[in-house]
Amino acid sequence: MHELELDLHCSMTNKKVAVIGGGAAGFFAALSVKEHHPNHEVLLFEKTSKVLSKVKVSGGGRCNVTNSCSDIPVLCDAYPRGGKKLRSLFHQFNTTDTVKWFENKGVALKTEKDGRIFPVSNNSQTIIDCLVSEMVGLNVNLKLGQNIEKIETEGEQWNLFFKDMPSLLFDSVIIATGGSPKLKGFDWLHKLGHTIIEPLPSLFTFNMPKEPIKELMGVVVEQARVKIKDTKIQTEGPLLITHWGMSGPAILKASAFGARELSQRNYKFEILINWVDETNTEFLFEELQKFSQENPQKRIGNLKPFLIPNRLWEFLLEKIKIPTDRKWNEVGKKKFRQLSTLLTQDQYSVSGKTTFKEEFVTCGGISLNEINLKTMQSKLHSNLYFAGEIIDVDAITGGYNFQAAWSGGFVAGKLDH
Ligand SMILES: Cc1cc2nc3c(=O)[nH]c(=O)nc-3n(C[C@H](O)[C@H](O)[C@H](O)COP(=O)(O)OP(=O)(O)OC[C@H]3O[C@@H](n4cnc5c(N)ncnc54)[C@H](O)[C@@H]3O)c2cc1C
Repeated sequence: MHELELDLHCSMTNKKVAVIGGGAAGFFAALSVKEHHPNHEVLLFEKTSKVLSKVKVSGGGRCNVTNSCSDIPVLCDAYPRGGKKLRSLFHQFNTTDTVKWFENKGVALKTEKDGRIFPVSNNSQTIIDCLVSEMVGLNVNLKLGQNIEKIETEGEQWNLFFKDMPSLLFDSVIIATGGSPKLKGFDWLHKLGHTIIEPLPSLFTFNMPKEPIKELMGVVVEQARVKIKDTKIQTEGPLLITHWGMSGPAILKASAFGARELSQRNYKFEILINWVDETNTEFLFEELQKFSQENPQKRIGNLKPFLIPNRLWEFLLEKIKIPTDRKWNEVGKKKFRQLSTLLTQDQYSVSGKTTFKEEFVTCGGISLNEINLKTMQSKLHSNLYFAGEIIDVDAITGGYNFQAAWSGGFVAGKLDH
């Protein structure tokens, strides 16, 4: 039979597909099966009584659906676990496709200054309503309160085992059960022979119980650089000082890239902050001297050559014992040297972490070595697919985690081999 005829024949055959997990990835997978294989029967099993509960609380209740980053190599850089390996996935369904998909279904989206994309309604319920109405329209059979405890092959098919009802046979299964904070949550998948990379939290803020900088809570530096001492981790972006330590995109990014390394250190480490987005300390030293010559009579606490908040500037001056009422021409070279080092490598001790309330994820999950990322099919079993946070892929904040769920779900739902 000709290849095209074979494809046509496959999608016309009435097969039974189970999707396990009623989150973002499971919904997208179920809808994608119906889109690519309209005649297939699709059942979606969700263990709780509610679907899309993470979508509901996501992005502070606004749901950061995706990001405006459309360049695939740059997009891949947002995934500390996944990275370049996700190229084939994003070539099939990327951020632009997500925007088109939702807009075609009547959801108006908006892009914020930092690239994050939200529904215009600022309400995650808009996304839920859209996904649920598509599900109804495409006749996906939703089964709530069904916890799948085991799956086994039976000939060419898959047998799904439930807690309170007899097992059911399916031709294909897509697993989209999300991340689990404990290894035990992956036991039933480990039994299928899949390697599980130890799950650990990602996207957390840094606790600094002993650092007086906490007194500046609420202060935001628009462009800071963060380096975790004795590691290669270096990030940049806005930084927020909180009443427990530091947060903001630059810190969250560092937590994502350091998720494993920082866990090994029991979340005790030193960080270096560059407050002024200038790495050349010598150049800064000269700039400070030049500024001093231009403004000799001005008080150092009142006038500064950098766009950092006043409270932070005063705090840094006090840290190296430069009185804020001192005139610029009264500050000696030695202090300017100290100040230029402090502005570029200000050291703080971190001890502990706090989960970021607006978005958090687990890194780890099914090892990518055992998944064909062009199809999302298991390399160990035919007709078994994975999508979403269950796999060892996670991202920095900004809508990238949902993007991985939409892309994975879409590609898995093609049921390609
Ligand atoms: C508070 C918070 C806010 C977030 N905000 C954002 C954001 O704005 N933007 C962004 O990109 N990302 C955000 N994220 C991350 C994002 O929500 C997740 O990456 C995404 O939801 C993963 O989707 P998923 O479908 O893989 O998993 P989940 O959403 O976790 O869905 C998995 C589903 O499977 C069900 N399930 C599990 N085991 C079984 C079983 N054995 N049988 C049947 N059902 C099962 C679960 O009950 C669940 O409903 C946020 C996360 C959190 C916690």
